[in-house]
Amino acid sequence: MTCSICQRTGKTERLPRGWKRREEVVFCEACWRERYILRSIAIPVVEPMGEDWHNFREALKLGWVQATAAANWMMTELYARDFRRGREDKMPPMKRVYLYPEARERFPGLTPQSVVSIENAVQAAYRAARYEVLWTCSASLPTFRYPRPLPVHNQSWEATTAEERPVVRVRLGGRWWELRLKGGPRFRPQMAAYRQMVSGEAVRGELTLYRVRAHDGKLAGRPNKDQQVKYTVMCKMVAWLPRASQMEIRAPSDPLRVKTADDMLLVAANGRNEQVWRYRADHLRRWVAEHRKSIQSLADDQKAEQRPSAAFADRRTAAGLKYRNRMHSAIREIAAQLVAYAARRNFSAIDYDDTATGFCPDFPYAALRERICIKCGEAGLGFEQARALPVETPVSASSAASRLLLSGHR
Ligand SMILES: [Zn+2]
Repeated sequence: MTCSICQRTGKTERLPRGWKRREEVVFCEACWRERYILRSIAIPVVEPMGEDWHNFREALKLGWVQATAAANWMMTELYARDFRRGREDKMPPMKRVYLYPEARERFPGLTPQSVVSIENAVQAAYRAARYEVLWTCSASLPTFRYPRPLPVHNQSWEATTAEERPVVRVRLGGRWWELRLKGGPRFRPQMAAYRQMVSGEAVRGELTLYRVRAHDGKLAGRPNKDQQVKYTVMCKMVAWLPRASQMEIRAPSDPLRVKTADDMLLVAANGRNEQVWRYRADHLRRWVAEHRKSIQSLADDQKAEQRPSAAFADRRTAAGLKYRNRMHSAIREIAAQLVAYAARRNFSAIDYDDTATGFCPDFPYAALRERICIKCGEAGLGFEQARALPVETPVSASSAASRLLLSGHR
């Protein structure tokens, strides 16, 4: 396999990872990234055209039910087929498990590509949790709650417009639906990308249907029984956009360049390289330290006690849970602050670089990155990761998913 642009040769006959083929042109990863940039846009669905909301919701519900069930089934299968800790000195590597054929039989309502997409995401999530689940037994098996977002392969959706409004055609539950998406000034950055998907300049990837709490249905605190929670159906589309025209259509401002640092969690700079926003987050460091200390002292107490007892296990679980909950809400909060700042100051996108982890090495940087990416999508901002992912690191579920949806273009 030879790159049509720079004539570099790949090791295999097939397209190496990261390489792309468009029409007859073969791109190596470097040449491709020089020309295309990965963007994901999320736009709310206004209505299914010429159809009742009820029918569409039913089809969607069926998809979500199956996607959730399939993901949970795959997770438990991977666990059931894995080793159990005995006398090994170190954790054996995971055997290759291929769940696709059985999953297809069990979940006939999902398209083959959706099954592949879900399996890739679940395999990655399992791999990431495996050490803690099987070896240290410090975490339980991850599960997926309804509704797990439904992935739709690029051959099962099209970007079109009707009377200048965005209308996405999606294959769902064995038929095609036309979904009118929200337009208007608030979605101008998304629309620029969307138009490139319509014209074919952009290389479309996966589409995902998911739901979020509707803004007008947002309730302070816990909803009481008679207040029904309202949801908005969101349509997320991933595509490679050509870089050159990306420059032309970009909103009048530059991206906000955000970096992790060694002396604080995040710093952001504008186009003139002036530091305009920062997040120090000493409390995160303290939480990590406290958590480590409490785990250690529980372990010491237990050692002094000479025998394992259920009370210690409970305390350890409680400590772990508290820590995870804290981190989870901190991540949401930081991402919300950062994206709100970028949107308020009219930055067109966030360029994100989380290479530096010196500030708090144990902090879940990947989770923060994912969250910021999601918030950018919701706010109509682009998100670009400045650093290319190293190939052989454990990946989070969603980055594996995005890799998969790109591989659809090989
Ligand atoms: Zn090349």
